[in-house]
Amino acid sequence: MAALTLATLYTGRADALNHAGEMAGNLVSLISSDLSRNVEIDDLSLKAMVDGAQQPRTWKLPPNIRDAVLFDRASTAVYLGGAFILDAAGRVAVAQNKVAYPPVALNDRDYFVAQQDSPNVGLYFSHPYRSRLRDGKWSVSLTRRINNPDGSFNGIAVLAIRLEYFQSLLSRVSTGRAGSVFVALGDGTLLARKPYVEKAIGMRVRSASFAYMQSHPSGSFVASATVDGVERMYSFSRVPGTPLVAVVAPAVDDILSPWRERSLLVGTLTLAFGTVFVAVSWMLAFALRDKIKVQEQLVRWAATDALTGLSNRRALDASLNAEWARAARQGSAISVAFIDIDHFKRFNDLYGHAMGDEVLSAVAGCLTEAARASDVVVRYGGEEFAVLLPDTDAAGAIATGERMRKSVEGMTHFALLKGQPAVTVSVGCATRLPALGGAPRELLLAADEQLYSAKGAGRNRVMHEISATGSFAVRT
Ligand code: GH3
Ligand code: MG
Ligand code: MG
Repeated sequence: MAALTLATLYTGRADALNHAGEMAGNLVSLISSDLSRNVEIDDLSLKAMVDGAQQPRTWKLPPNIRDAVLFDRASTAVYLGGAFILDAAGRVAVAQNKVAYPPVALNDRDYFVAQQDSPNVGLYFSHPYRSRLRDGKWSVSLTRRINNPDGSFNGIAVLAIRLEYFQSLLSRVSTGRAGSVFVALGDGTLLARKPYVEKAIGMRVRSASFAYMQSHPSGSFVASATVDGVERMYSFSRVPGTPLVAVVAPAVDDILSPWRERSLLVGTLTLAFGTVFVAVSWMLAFALRDKIKVQEQLVRWAATDALTGLSNRRALDASLNAEWARAARQGSAISVAFIDIDHFKRFNDLYGHAMGDEVLSAVAGCLTEAARASDVVVRYGGEEFAVLLPDTDAAGAIATGERMRKSVEGMTHFALLKGQPAVTVSVGCATRLPALGGAPRELLLAADEQLYSAKGAGRNRVMHEISATGSFAVRT
């Protein structure tokens, strides 16, 4: 769920960036087409001025008609700073608005020098400058060369555009909190910028980002600005027919902030739900584990005798059936020994019930020790035990019974009289070959019968049914 949410949020981020890139691209083309169209109109005015100025007859007309001929179209230019004809020395020959300008020479301006030096410049777009004729107002000029009939330089036609034109164009573009939008010349000279920074106008932008814009007609990329370190998404385009570059650069932070807010909310909720889900699962898992543990404990208790730690009678029945079937398959013998403590009532009476319990545990220890790992020792009830001896013949059963009897007899430390046995046991054994038929129950009855015989014969002894039938060799 978390992975799915993360993937969705990540896609949302890419979508937000793409969308912002498209919007910026659209703005760039709008700005670019506005600039392009205005420069085109201005150029038509300039061409008309040049045509008029190159006609010798124009200069013979009365001044007001001459001005109308020269500047007819120029008056329509937006944010017009002025339209002039400069003579070959760079002085104002005629001005559109009939103001008496100071007699300053403008022959050092880039737009003048360029046209003076070469007849093939065509339309020239100047660098921004502070006007000498108009109170130092920031302007750019569009110029075209005026030739003498022989082709030599005879001055220029100038259309001065106030930089406010660019600034007003950009002011209509919304850039977000930290975004920026600007128009620059191809060499990086800044003409206008939003947000407006007075100092930056006329400065040259020098950065890797701008170098990229210079070498591509249009495009978009993300970069950190060298000036303020803000990461922005730059969309740029060269303005056709001009040396201008228009750039719209919304800040990545602004673009992503709605996405971030959404992600924070969705992420927090996912985390919270996830945590609750995991916590609840965890709690359930623990509860389940405890329950299983208790169940296992109960199962163990059900099959175990609490006093001696041996298995109980139920476990013997289960093992006996399984071992009987196995012995039947393998053709092996199976034996059972019944063990009963002699005169245990007397012992209890003499030593007390608590001591009796201790002896019961000790006897269980003796029996377990005397048995093999594969034998099943159980407390059959009261002071009676049974041992299932798989894969054991009569001789083996008698030997095991004898080992057990001796072991119990050897426990003298419980006795009041030092060196005397505290308790003894009588052992009754029986053996069967399940492959020959019969039932497990008969084996138990036969062993019990032998135990009874051992008691009758004086206790503290091992008896096996073969003692009576003689079908097996007895070792004592
Ligand atoms: P026998 O030699 O004929 O087996 O005599 P016995 O006294 O051992 O036989 P009986 O069946 O008459 O008595 C069994 C006694 O075992 C009765 C009881 O006091 C004692 N007993 C049975 N279970 C326990 C037990 O869990 N703890 C203790 N301390 N004694 C037990
Ligand atoms: Mg008994
Ligand atoms: Mg007894």
